[in-house]
Order: sequence, then C-alpha cells, then structure tokens
Amino acid sequence: MPSDCVFCRIAAGEIDGRILFQDDQATAFWDIHPVAPIHILIIPNKHIRSVNELDVEDEALIGHLFTVAGRIAREQGVAEAGYRLTINTGPNAGQSVYHIHLHLMAGKALPIHLG
Ligand code: AMP
Ligand code: ZN
Repeated sequence: MPSDCVFCRIAAGEIDGRILFQDDQATAFWDIHPVAPIHILIIPNKHIRSVNELDVEDEALIGHLFTVAGRIAREQGVAEAGYRLTINTGPNAGQSVYHIHLHLMAGKALPIHLG
C-alpha cells in the first residue's frame, strides 16, 4: 500500500474518510467536495492507479465496484430516480487522485455533457 495514497489510507482506516460501506475488496465513502447532493466514491482496497493499469486479473474486482454502487444507490433511495457513475482517467479527464475510483453522483438532475 503506497503510504502517500490518500485513498489507501482511508481504506486502511488511517485517516477519517466517512466510510459508508466496506468489505474485503472495496470501500465506499463520501466525497469531500461533493458536486451533487449524493456524491460517493467507491474504490478497490487494492491500489490501482487508473484504468490504464488494469489487468485481466482485476476484472472481477472492478465488476464488484459496480455491484457495490448499485447496492448503495438502492440504499440511498436514488436507484429509480437515477444516478451517474464516472471514472476519470488521466489529466484531460481531470483525474486528481491516482487510486482508481468510481464516482456515484445523484440527488438532482445532473447536467448532461460529454466534453
Ligand atoms: P478525480 O478528480 O476523479 O480523481 O476525483 C477525486 C475525488 O476525490 C474528488 O471528487 C475529490 O473531491 C475527492 N477527494 C479527494 N480527497 C478526498 C478525501 N480525503 N476524502 C474524500 N474525498 C476526497
Ligand atoms: Zn491507493
């Protein structure tokens, strides 16, 4: 675990991360700078820098992040109204934390834009 990775440290319980779900593979916690009424990050406990570093052996783990996201959406009561799942990769996408994470954003009509 890279000691300088803030998301590894949240998953390890070393710093407060407002965790709302954790199992042996993944951790979900509230984003510190929410852009929607509900903004949750879902990460693998394993340190993977970005989609660029994914390996075939990580496929089940990444699939698990989406299963967790769906479960959280139902628990938060936003499954039917809808939500957005986003993974930013690299500078042009605005990735700022290099530990792969799935954003779950919900609670309002989200702006639709692709660029
Ligand atoms: P990205 O720009 O896709 O890399 O997203 C990184 C996200 O992590 C941003 O939405 C930040 O607000 C969020 N973030 C950064 N540090 C923390 C932290 N310590 N706890 C919770 N969320 C964080
Ligand atoms: Zn990490």
